[in-house]
Amino acid sequence: EPITVEVALGERTYDIAIGRGLLASLGARIKALRPGARTVIVTDENVAKQHLPAAQAALSEAGVESSAIVVTPGEGSKKFATFERVCEDIIAARIERGDLAIALGGGVIGDLAGFASSCVRRGLDFVQVPTSLLAQVDSSVGGKTGINSRHGKNLIGAFHQPVLVIADTALLDTLPAREFRAGYAEVAKYGLLGDEAFFAWLEANWREVFAGGPAREHAIAVSCRAKAGVVARDERETGERALLNLGHTFGHAFEAGCGFSDRLLHGEAVALGMVMAFDFSARKGLTSQAEADRARAHLAAVGLPTHVRDVAGGVPGIDALMDLIAQDKKVKRGKLTFILVRGIGQAFIENNVDPAEVRAFLAEQV
Ligand code: NAD
Ligand code: ZN
Repeated sequence: EPITVEVALGERTYDIAIGRGLLASLGARIKALRPGARTVIVTDENVAKQHLPAAQAALSEAGVESSAIVVTPGEGSKKFATFERVCEDIIAARIERGDLAIALGGGVIGDLAGFASSCVRRGLDFVQVPTSLLAQVDSSVGGKTGINSRHGKNLIGAFHQPVLVIADTALLDTLPAREFRAGYAEVAKYGLLGDEAFFAWLEANWREVFAGGPAREHAIAVSCRAKAGVVARDERETGERALLNLGHTFGHAFEAGCGFSDRLLHGEAVALGMVMAFDFSARKGLTSQAEADRARAHLAAVGLPTHVRDVAGGVPGIDALMDLIAQDKKVKRGKLTFILVRGIGQAFIENNVDPAEVRAFLAEQV
């Protein structure tokens, strides 16, 4: 039995269906949602090799017409040239208002295909079929879509909610282990930021989540529910949604410091960043060092980096890191905004952090 998480945003609601083997129901679900609609699948070469034939078969068995657009895998495809090609190919596939685009892939495909959908014919509806753990628990929920600018990541985009999300947990079986682990950092994030009981459950059950049994579905459902709840209360990130950035300020600095290379994947940077947010909070006396050590112990147990020394090739020096942190979060009246914690499951937004204190903390770590 699949798990359904409902996302309610203003007047609109849509479902995230989570379960093993759900891809086989793609055609039937689309036919039920939008009878007579034609579809175009946007995917990347890696995902196409593993899962495009099954997706196409599911559509054609239900009598849903489809074509496919396959792009180069990786962050490099979140650029204008690929966006242009995807838009033109969607139009060439004669997808019209009322038809559907299907994003079949990780966060790169969701962001790219979602943004193209928001623009073609001033807005096409689209379905997300996330195929990475990160995409199933994070990027497919919340409606942020976009591409990168030469000035920085995700600077060009739109809010565009999907009409349906199908998270087939079996698709993750073909995901490289390192990508799965990196996505797991975002799962643990939901426990660390607002749900101590879920974090305790993960400590006990993470092996089953990795192995792919029903525990995986549960972890993904809890994560989607957590993100959907936050997004429903604060779609445009005027407040609470910022909590989802736990670990991301330190994390982005390390990611950027490694040149966004495969030396440090996003989720790996977030794992390290979250532990540092806990350590920094403990240093400020907001939480105990025991809580920080508990967060570190779990992330280290699954094989994620939790010390600066775990980053292959090292990280930039303190001056460079401070510059990157200042760039990431706007400095207001000389103060930085950080997501800090009072304990596991108790994150809060602190917008009065003294840069000198961050620098002193980093000097102890780097
Ligand atoms: P990704 O889409 O590049 O996927 C990672 C790698 O795994 C790629 O090489 C991909 O081809 C491969 N892959 C994906 N699914 C596979 C499968 N089932 N089997 C085999 N290989 C598979 O990266 P990601 O980690 O999924 O997403 C990262 C992107 O998501 C970033 O661009 C980030 O900015 C974005 N993001 C967006 C949001 C949002 O709210 N929109 C949130 C978080 C992250
Ligand atoms: Zn993230």
